[in-house]
Amino acid sequence: MPGHTAWLLAEHLSPANPALAGARRVLLIESATAIGGAPHHRQKLLMILSAMRRTARRLRDQGLEVDLREAPTFAAGVAAHRAAHGDPEVRLLRPVGRRAQRLGRLPGVTMLDGSLFLTPPEEFDAWADGRRRLVMEDFYRRQRRRLGVLMDGDAPLGGVWNLDAENRRPPPRDTAPPELAPYPDDDLDREVRRDLERLAPDAFGSIGPRLWPATPQEARTRLAGFVSGALDAFGPYQDAMLHGRRLMWHSGLAAAMNLGLLDPLEAVRAVEDAHRAGRVGLASAEGFARQVIGWREYVAGLYRRWSADWAGMNALGADRPLPALFRGGPTRMRCMADAVGGVAATGYAHHIERLMLFGNLMLTLGVRPDEALAWFTTSFVDGHEWVMAPNVLGMALHADGGRMMTKPYPASGAYVKRMSDHCRGCAYDPAVRGGPTACPFTSLYWDFLDRHRDRFAANPRMRPMLRNLDRLPPPEMAAARARARELRADFTA
Ligand SMILES: Cc1cc2nc3c(=O)[nH]c(=O)nc-3n(C[C@H](O)[C@H](O)[C@H](O)COP(=O)(O)OP(=O)(O)OC[C@H]3O[C@@H](n4cnc5c(N)ncnc54)[C@H](O)[C@@H]3O)c2cc1C
Ligand code: SF4
Repeated sequence: MPGHTAWLLAEHLSPANPALAGARRVLLIESATAIGGAPHHRQKLLMILSAMRRTARRLRDQGLEVDLREAPTFAAGVAAHRAAHGDPEVRLLRPVGRRAQRLGRLPGVTMLDGSLFLTPPEEFDAWADGRRRLVMEDFYRRQRRRLGVLMDGDAPLGGVWNLDAENRRPPPRDTAPPELAPYPDDDLDREVRRDLERLAPDAFGSIGPRLWPATPQEARTRLAGFVSGALDAFGPYQDAMLHGRRLMWHSGLAAAMNLGLLDPLEAVRAVEDAHRAGRVGLASAEGFARQVIGWREYVAGLYRRWSADWAGMNALGADRPLPALFRGGPTRMRCMADAVGGVAATGYAHHIERLMLFGNLMLTLGVRPDEALAWFTTSFVDGHEWVMAPNVLGMALHADGGRMMTKPYPASGAYVKRMSDHCRGCAYDPAVRGGPTACPFTSLYWDFLDRHRDRFAANPRMRPMLRNLDRLPPPEMAAARARARELRADFTA
């Protein structure tokens, strides 16, 4: 029988997937092991299965033969498909994750080179090869030029490449941020919910209404809503947190991009157009472009080059277990209770909650990188191996010893106080370093610097923090150390 089968993984739902070119039929496998093998967030599973089944429906409507099948494993699914269809060649676009790449070795499967990212591997390598350090800012400027984003000839629009300094404001007092708008259930969502009870009884988090786009159309509508309703404030307030608020002025589009439902360049062009039409400021447009053509492509490129080295890295010798509060255990830390509760409810937290609350607590406490990675990977709707490994191991935990980021990001309660309204009404005091009322972030921050002083002494970016450490009166340091020792022995706070 002529023609091949295009096998679409959940991360490959883009209409531009090259495996679809000339395909006679399409295979989508709902693997019971992939769905129920780890306690993934229910919102993530609902979004993924809903997106896969809607993709199947769209492709059928386009006249393709579609085999959407449930199977115990991917291997079993491919074998059953081939047996039922006369042993066709099954073409799979090379997945990004290292483990998923093993699928290319299954009988009858041909792996296609190519990717749904904006940066072909050879382009990333052309930039990276021979450089002593792979600095994101250098890569991002090259991306701006190469993709022609926010450029004025060969110069950056507005004359500067980086507007980060304008984008670090604390939350405004008088403006409420937009919230996630749920999608009303249709028959397909209801069917997925029923199947999930059977396929993933031990999944994590709340199932609630579906909160995340499951079709290209839903993703485009969310993009349009972000551009018209949130983008102008995205830049200035991208580091801000407000109690009870999840999305703030962020886009909530990572999950859709990671499944291939939204072309990242389409999102960036929409943002650039809004700026050129005078509807949003340059700091916001530049901030968003930096995240998407910069950070997103940069971490994917680093993952491809370094993923083999990342496994098992633990440069800071972190050996503490993940505190129970990350799985809903009780805590009096007002910021953590709010952000972890938000993850359980939605499968989402924005970048600063991920880095400066979750990552910061794990870093300064010394949580084992494998446990941290497992929590991040299962808890977020946009979690995929390629994006988690660099962000968690490289950026948040410094487990790679600084290969990716020049410095770690420890912060005391003072940072959270400045960038949020969480500390008002908390049982702890961000300014207190020792004793029962000390903010755990504050005690752990000083203790972290103290424990790793020698390692960071020669790092110019850590010097201001270490100078402040040296200025601490000895009794203050002793009190912080004592409280941190208690927290590290048995984290209850
Ligand atoms: C510890 C940690 C874990 C993370 N885990 C994930 C993850 O599992 N999946 C994921 O997609 N992102 C992850 N990120 C990156 C970033 O935090 C999320 O992409 C972002 O918060 C998603 O929300 P948003 O779509 O509202 O993003 P916005 O704030 O609206 O940003 C726009 C887009 O930029 C991209 N982006 C921004 N920063 C990054 C980055 N560091 N890496 C990759 N893409 C980026 C995303 O596609 C995002 O949608 C993680 C960051 C940290 C520090
Ligand atoms: S005092 Fe500390 S624990 Fe409490 S909300 Fe502020 S930063 Fe969080």
